Amino acid sequence: MCLFSTVTSAAIFGVESRPVNVEADITDGLPSFAMVGFLSTQVKEAQERVRTALKNSGLRMEPKRITVNLSPADVRKSGTGFDLPIAVAVAAAYGKVPGERLEGILIAGELNLNGEVLPVPGILPIVAGARESGCHTCILPKANEKEGAVISGIRILGVETLAETIAYLKGERALKPACASENGAGEAETHYEDFAEIAGQEAARRAVEVAVSGFHNLLMVGPPGSGKSMLARRIPGILPPLSLEEKIEISKVYSIAGMLNRDCHLVQQRPFRAPHHSITAKAMAGGGNYPRPGEVSLAHNGVLFLDELPEFSRETLEVLRQPLEERRVCISRTSGICTYPANIMLVAAMNPCPCGNYPDIAKCLCTNHQVRRYLNRISSPFLDRIDITIEVPALQYRSLEVKKTAETSAQIRERVLKARRIQEQRYKNTPFRFNADLDQSGIRTYCPLGSTQEMLMQEAFEKLDLSARTYYRILKVARTIADMMESGRIETEHLQEALCYRSIHKRYWLNR
Ligand SMILES: [Zn+2]
Repeated sequence: MCLFSTVTSAAIFGVESRPVNVEADITDGLPSFAMVGFLSTQVKEAQERVRTALKNSGLRMEPKRITVNLSPADVRKSGTGFDLPIAVAVAAAYGKVPGERLEGILIAGELNLNGEVLPVPGILPIVAGARESGCHTCILPKANEKEGAVISGIRILGVETLAETIAYLKGERALKPACASENGAGEAETHYEDFAEIAGQEAARRAVEVAVSGFHNLLMVGPPGSGKSMLARRIPGILPPLSLEEKIEISKVYSIAGMLNRDCHLVQQRPFRAPHHSITAKAMAGGGNYPRPGEVSLAHNGVLFLDELPEFSRETLEVLRQPLEERRVCISRTSGICTYPANIMLVAAMNPCPCGNYPDIAKCLCTNHQVRRYLNRISSPFLDRIDITIEVPALQYRSLEVKKTAETSAQIRERVLKARRIQEQRYKNTPFRFNADLDQSGIRTYCPLGSTQEMLMQEAFEKLDLSARTYYRILKVARTIADMMESGRIETEHLQEALCYRSIHKRYWLNR
């Protein structure tokens, strides 16, 4: 009888997976079942499920001293995906499965007491990691097989029961490899609300288009009912499509969160997340005992919309500072630092004061102090991370009339795609995708200014009290406006428009 066996599985860390060896060892002695190897409570509980599942799968085993070790010891293992590999390792140590059959195979899945294999989150990163580490096959829960098949170049076998798994490994039955459902094609066309339904607000519409074209953060300030959230909710309809690379990145996040659509295993559209202002800092950033991506990561490669920005707790807004700067979020945990991607376009909307009518002194009922306190809920480091701020004024009767001539989302999207293609060309073979992604050296390379424009910026720097950070953000927005005009160079008019989107900060926040 073989007394020792090893099965390959994987642990999730952030959005990446790390290989884990599940070793089982059997010796004579007092019957027991011990598990070691930096395990979370969930993994420790596996021994009960595994023991019962083995018994209920008709595998008779003499009572022995069983030790299961999950290595390497420095990787913390959590979740229920280790049930199936542990069960297989134990069965192999008892000689029920030939050890050499296990080579190059990664196994993951949860077991219930009946020996049925249940789906687990994180399959996409697990399979991607298995391919990288040279495995030829993954044995996964049947319900996860389509998700695994998204990754090409590795065989995916879906199983429904432990007994079926053992029978396959013994060579007693064959399993049909899963095939990818063509990137989840066949998904219903999503219907978005249309920009044509918004009357007037030409300036705001333009600002939204600039923001979407370069993936810039946008803040809309205006009285209630001016259409701020109407504008924001129409953004998904003009966003450029995801590249395959972007689809896989965001699908990994949804896979770990257990939020992938069962029929469509690759996220097809840029996410649009609109959490309520009562959201906690933890739900925004992610983390917890069983680490889970937060809203900021669920919005990765898409839009995070925060309506009524000052109503969010200060703590919640502060956790956004890091992702807005570094495009990822790091969460410290007892087992180390866990990183999730968070490359978002932030769209926020707010009233200018508690009653909503400031700076219309005739209508605003708030005291100066109330207005200041309200606006100051948004810290200046947070404001620094906003690229475009726009006032959305109350609608006048005249602009309500022009409804019929308003442009449709399809027309706007056409232009967005054109600007997107220019950026795609320019940033080929660089880490950048959109103008908003540029770092300082990227800005020096791709946003050079002529001497007239340099002078204009110098003047603005003093007049608008700009920080170095906001200075660079203005250049990136100007780059986008130049792209929208199909201009290779950043001209004075492009800079002026970009500066205009920044000057509103001064009116509301710096003059008070
Ligand atoms: Zn007011």
